[in-house]
Amino acid sequence: MRLRKTSRRALLLAGCAAALLGRAAAAQDTAKTGAAATFSILGDLVRQVGGDRVDVVTLVGPDGDVHVYSPTPGDAKKLAAAKIVFVNGLGLEGWVTRLVKASSTRAPVVTVSNGITARKTEDENAPERPIIDPHAWQSVANAKIYVANIRDGLAAIDPAGKATYDANAAAYLDKLDQLEKEVHAAIAGIPADRRRVITTHDSLGYFGDAYGLKFIAPERVSTDSEASAKDVAKIIAQIRREKIPGVFLENITDPRLMNEIARETGAAVGGTLYSDALSPPGGPAASYLDMMRHNARELTKALAG
Ligand SMILES: [Zn+2]
Repeated sequence: MRLRKTSRRALLLAGCAAALLGRAAAAQDTAKTGAAATFSILGDLVRQVGGDRVDVVTLVGPDGDVHVYSPTPGDAKKLAAAKIVFVNGLGLEGWVTRLVKASSTRAPVVTVSNGITARKTEDENAPERPIIDPHAWQSVANAKIYVANIRDGLAAIDPAGKATYDANAAAYLDKLDQLEKEVHAAIAGIPADRRRVITTHDSLGYFGDAYGLKFIAPERVSTDSEASAKDVAKIIAQIRREKIPGVFLENITDPRLMNEIARETGAAVGGTLYSDALSPPGGPAASYLDMMRHNARELTKALAG
């Protein structure tokens, strides 16, 4: 009787322990891999590949300017907690190396632009030193390379998820193939002599090279220095001389300069392009796919007819 009671309690305890162990195992199964991405566009690509296995935090959020960002102590904590950190590279995030060091994170840092051919622009004041254009994601072909680097980076730190990352990446690469065809077709519909656009900073050069548009900007490939009066005067003269049909705003830059240029020249303000950041959720460019479609649509709307 006594023995039976004890063994019943032992069984009960054993049962509890098993249940707890089971719960712990289940928690481990559902524990997600923490990933950090430096800006919203990259954060979306990491989410697409990571799916349910990965928790993604981004440092520079929607509509944010990644060029001139000042990291916060909270950002260092995000990197310290991350198992993997994704950066664009090509000089986009000048602040990130110091932040990684300050965070003491042991996570690998993956540069997603590895393997792309960088676009170079010339600095008139120093032609011997070409400037690397960091906005490689503006060509869908480059976004595919980003996705491959993200997939391989995630599989390296979470080998158990490799099949999931492979499948997610393959499905998303199919969507990028479709997107690429759409953007090509949309821009091909714009008459050749109208494929010239003014933007605030030189952020859409990869888009222009890939799909056959010329983008001209008073500011260079970073927003860290304002356009000089001389640069603005030059653009205004160029718009008049070449009858450039479209002036576009960017979601990350102050619209005043472009509005002023449009007023001066009589060029139409064509709309807002999303260059370096997504829109907030619910906006017109809340994902990479939506951003590229939105930009192609705005350009064709303003220039095609
Ligand atoms: Zn930019």
